[in-house]
Parts: sequence; C-alpha cells; structure tokens
Amino acid sequence: MPGAMSTDQMPPAPFRIGLARYDAGAEEVSAIRQVIESGVLTNGPRTPEFEQAFARRHEAKHAVAVANGTIALTGIYMAHGIGDGDEVIVPSLTFVSTATSVVHVGAVPVFADVDERSFTLDVADVRRRLTRRTRAIVVVHYGGQAGNLSELQELANEAHVPLIEDAAQAHGATYRGRPVGAQSSAGMFSFTPTKNITTGEGGVVTTNDTALADRLRLLRNHGQTAPYQHSMLGFNWRMTEMQAAMGTVQLSRLDAILDRKRANASWMSNRLHGLPGVTLPEVMPDRDHPYMLYTILVEHSRDYVMECLIKAGIEARLYFPPAHKQPIFARQQKTLPVTERLAKSMLSLPFHSMLTRAELEYIAHELERAIRRSPA
Ligand SMILES: *Cc1c(COP(=O)(O)O)cnc(C)c1O
Repeated sequence: MPGAMSTDQMPPAPFRIGLARYDAGAEEVSAIRQVIESGVLTNGPRTPEFEQAFARRHEAKHAVAVANGTIALTGIYMAHGIGDGDEVIVPSLTFVSTATSVVHVGAVPVFADVDERSFTLDVADVRRRLTRRTRAIVVVHYGGQAGNLSELQELANEAHVPLIEDAAQAHGATYRGRPVGAQSSAGMFSFTPTKNITTGEGGVVTTNDTALADRLRLLRNHGQTAPYQHSMLGFNWRMTEMQAAMGTVQLSRLDAILDRKRANASWMSNRLHGLPGVTLPEVMPDRDHPYMLYTILVEHSRDYVMECLIKAGIEARLYFPPAHKQPIFARQQKTLPVTERLAKSMLSLPFHSMLTRAELEYIAHELERAIRRSPA
C-alpha cells in the first residue's frame, strides 16, 4: 500500500500523558478552509493580519512572520550583519537551534552559563565571555520565563552589541509588566506544536526597529524590492497563508491558555510542595511565567525518577541536554558548571494546556511514588 508505514517505522505507543497537545479545533479548521477557498495560499492578506495581531499583543512596532523559529533566529543575525568569524553569546541550556542558527550565518556561538534559579543567562558569566569579536548577546527565556532583560541590556549597551531575545517559548510572557519580544533589539517566537500556541511550524520576529524589520522582509522573500528585482541576497522563508490564518486564531486563545497553565502551575506547586529533594519552579519577582515548561529539579535520582514516570506513561523529559556537549560543538567544549549541574537534576513534566485535573493528579502521584522509592 503506497504511503503505509512498515512496522519498524511505526511511531512508539503513545504516552498516556504526552508532552505536548495543542488547543485547536473548529475555528482553526474554518480559518484554514477559508484560505484554501480564497485561492491565495502564500503572499496574501493573512500573513500581515497575523503579524499585526502578534505585534499588538506583544507591544512591538513590527512582527515579521517566517517559516519557523530557527529561521527567525538566522534572519535576526543576518539582518544585524552578523557573519564570518563573529561571536554570539548564547546559553547552552536551550534548544540547539539558538546556537546552530549562529553557525548557519558563519559566526561562532560562545556558550555562557545560566543562573540556577531562573535557568536563564547569568549576567556575570556573559560579561566574562565578551571579547572584541562579540557581535550579539542572545537571552533565552527558558520555559517561557524571561531572562534578566534589564541587566543584560545594560551589559549589551556597554559592549555596543545588540541584545536579542530567543522568546521561542515565551508567547505572552512579561518582564516588569510588559510583554517580552521587543524589550531588546529583536526577539523571536516559534509555533512548533510543543509551544503554547502553534501553527504546525512557524516563527515570528518582533522588533521596534523599522530598518531591521524591512531587512527581514527582504531576506524572507528573495531580497525582492519590486517584481523580479533582487536587491539583496534573500531566501524563501515565507509563512503560508494557512499557517498565518491558524496563527491569528491561536493568538486569540493565548490568554485563556496562559490562564489555565498558571492555574495548573499553582495547583501543581501546592500539590508537590515539601517533596524531599525536589525544587519547584521559581518565578522571579519582576516576571511572570507562561509555563511552556514546568521544570523541577530532582536532587539525587533524576534518571531513576524520569524512568519511573516514563514507565507510568508520562512523557517527562530533560529540557534540554546542554548544547555545548553536543557532538557538533565538540571543538569549543568548555565547562559550564551550573548548566552541567542542572542537566543532571532537571526534569520537565508534561504541562500542555489541555491537561485535566485528574491527569495533573496522576502526574503528581506518580512523581511522589517515584521519589519515595528512589535509591538515593
Ligand atoms: C522551539 C525553540 C526554537 C526553535 O524553533 P523552531 O520553530 O522549532 O525552529 C528555538 N529556541 C528555543 C529556545 C526553542 O524552544
């Protein structure tokens, strides 16, 4: 049968509680159907509609929608003129594409350590890694919670380099009461299905810098300034109209999703409070947490506990194995004590917005059982 999977390609049995599940339904289907019936699948009106809604929600002057979050990062570096031999400071505790996108433009990622409470860039360590070649600092809003934007911006100003936000996980998150994404030179968000809102694949850049937004639009569409007039080297990084239409509906769900997740986080943290050897997620006083991830620290027996949860059908994970330890970055291996310590104890529980109270209770119960039985 054409297209059928052979048994060795079959996906693994689904988890009883999987890591990600999106909140989408009839409205998204209807929006996508309208696009298909409109006859315009790309370069149409839905993309600017989505961009304007996204920019408004994140208090940014501009939003530029692209095919995925990784390309959004590459585009930000290129639009800043970062390239061959330049250095870009990034955390290692992130999804690998924060760093691979630096390599894609010919620059070198310089890994910095993180703060052990917020899991975001340690400002003092970033300062130590600045050199004459440093061309940008990229803060990752880990799990959606913002990094220390004000101190990092101060440091970036001192070093005369842009601060860039990898807000891939941080839709709707705030820092000092204002949305992240444009509290820097530029920020980016991802819409892959593990994030709080999704378009299947997709990304967006937010910025208050009009010239930067213009360069990104050119990069996205073959550097075309007029039909078949290619004024700069560009790419095809466009988001489709189907994705943009879905994105606009998803964005309208964002606040309800965040409300549910914050309520679930507060329930979970009450439920797990006092569990020996477990550190619960901490929300910094000047930020709020959108809980794309609910990440705990398990002191002695993380691997055992993670294994128990997986056996119980709960898709718990280490988010993320440090990037600087990946084979592709073997050449620049440095030690990052906090990141490496965290990588031994971090555990992210399934925490998508569709979890029921009974499922949360099941996760808490199995976690408690695993901790009680753990060898250490
Ligand atoms: C998801 C993610 C990305 C990449 O986004 P894609 O849309 O999957 O390319 C980059 N950085 C971080 C921190 C992410 O979580």
